[in-house]
Amino acid sequence: MKVTRIRGFHLRATLPEPIGNALVFFDRIDSLLVQLVSDDGLVGWGEAWASPAAVAAHIRTRLAPLVLGQDPSATGRLWRAMMGALHYDRRGVAVMAVAALDIALHDLAARAHGVPVTALLGGALRARVPAYASGPFFKPGGDPYRAYRDDVEGYQKRGFRAFKPHAGLDPRADGAMALALRRQIGRDGGLMMDYNQSYTARAAIRSAKCMEEADLLLLEEPVMPEDIAGYREVARHVLPALAGGEALGSLAAFREYLVAEAVDVLQPDVTICGGFTGCMRVAALAEAFDVPVMPHVWGTAVNFNAALQLAAVLPPQRGGGPAVFPMIEYDATSSPLFALAGTPPVDPDGMLAVPDAPGLGVDLTDEALRAWTVDQWEIAAN
Ligand SMILES: [Mg+2]
Repeated sequence: MKVTRIRGFHLRATLPEPIGNALVFFDRIDSLLVQLVSDDGLVGWGEAWASPAAVAAHIRTRLAPLVLGQDPSATGRLWRAMMGALHYDRRGVAVMAVAALDIALHDLAARAHGVPVTALLGGALRARVPAYASGPFFKPGGDPYRAYRDDVEGYQKRGFRAFKPHAGLDPRADGAMALALRRQIGRDGGLMMDYNQSYTARAAIRSAKCMEEADLLLLEEPVMPEDIAGYREVARHVLPALAGGEALGSLAAFREYLVAEAVDVLQPDVTICGGFTGCMRVAALAEAFDVPVMPHVWGTAVNFNAALQLAAVLPPQRGGGPAVFPMIEYDATSSPLFALAGTPPVDPDGMLAVPDAPGLGVDLTDEALRAWTVDQWEIAAN
């Protein structure tokens, strides 16, 4: 079997109203889906949700010749070949481009073998993964947390038992919001906070102190990803676990975090740090430091299902209370790109089934993407 065509779909969805976190407000979601087509007509999907246009250019100009005409089952060799073409682009867009193709190669190879991607990764350790609702987000104008109560009530009705709202505008407002949510979800609900890189270490510590009574499981990205000293400073003063790593691309960047003891939970994003091949290397490194891995998710159903396949093969670890790692991040907003293949149902106990259909377990067609496609391209083997 050979890869004969690479097709790109730049998707864009406009949200009914802007939403935000401490870093940014946005009213649209963009992502690049990459489809590999084989000579026997099978397809595999990959994704790059961050910097989609730049990733498309990188794939078209640099990586396509390395994948076209190749056997998709050679995921490791092709990953090496693509990483070998990075030259001076050691992280960011270049590694995201490798990631998109690596995910698609795994999907295609697994479909060719009639097995889920977990089988290519050594076999699933579990059939279900604990899901958490990623949200709520800020509302623009007025109190950004004013819709949190209703949003979380909606998540509870859908089966979620763990929640990760966005925080980080003001420590005292964070505290009031966190305490209100704790009262709402009860003692046994899982509560996390995502600061989206927004605070200084001091402000993050103040915020965490204001939220002490809310008994948080973890604090995510309290400071800028490059501020490892800041992570360490926050860690010295707060009880909840610190989580981060969604912005890291290279194995060496994860090593820096682990060696510095900057985080308690690593959150690699399959589409950012080199696909399944890159993420499995990060997971092995994290295991050597006894740090659990919990995949970060944003973008479309493709990244979500890739993260779900990954979460099924990661080693289990207890994080206290309802935190049993790996948990899966579930975009609880009503993003149509997340729901491209339908809305995955959460079981009443907050667990999510891992698809065991061939590949990623998500079937997409040109027709299903048409309403969201703003640019489309294709490169064929000579
Ligand atoms: Mg985050």
